[in-house]
Amino acid sequence: MIRMKKMNPAGCEREQDIARAVRSGLWSAELREHAAGCEACAEAMAVAAFLQSGEDPAATVPEPGLMWWRLELRARREKRARALRPLVIAERAAAVLFGSACVAVLVWLSSVSPSLSLTAGIAGAVLAVSAGSAILLASSRK
Ligand SMILES: [Zn+2]
Repeated sequence: MIRMKKMNPAGCEREQDIARAVRSGLWSAELREHAAGCEACAEAMAVAAFLQSGEDPAATVPEPGLMWWRLELRARREKRARALRPLVIAERAAAVLFGSACVAVLVWLSSVSPSLSLTAGIAGAVLAVSAGSAILLASSRK
């Protein structure tokens, strides 16, 4: 019987078998298959492999000052992104409104006078390109 993707918060009864297999290097096909599908056993396997490797746990932990600096940097970045979110939404809404207004004006002009619609179309295209590049420029400066 193979138990797949079964997560037990207290762990799995096969964890001891997994740890023993990591130590001895003797894996049965059934145990290997179970470890691939069981989260608790995958964790137990990672821990056992780490303990087996004999690595110094302190060697993999970064300096506290560096960690503090990174956390502060991350907090500052998140705060900035949170503060800018309404601005970004307003900017996108304005771009969408502007685009819709341009289309509405073009449709209206073409219904009023067909000869004017070509001129208006060219003017609209020029306006759209310049507005698009202005938006791109504004968003690249952030
Ligand atoms: Zn398991």
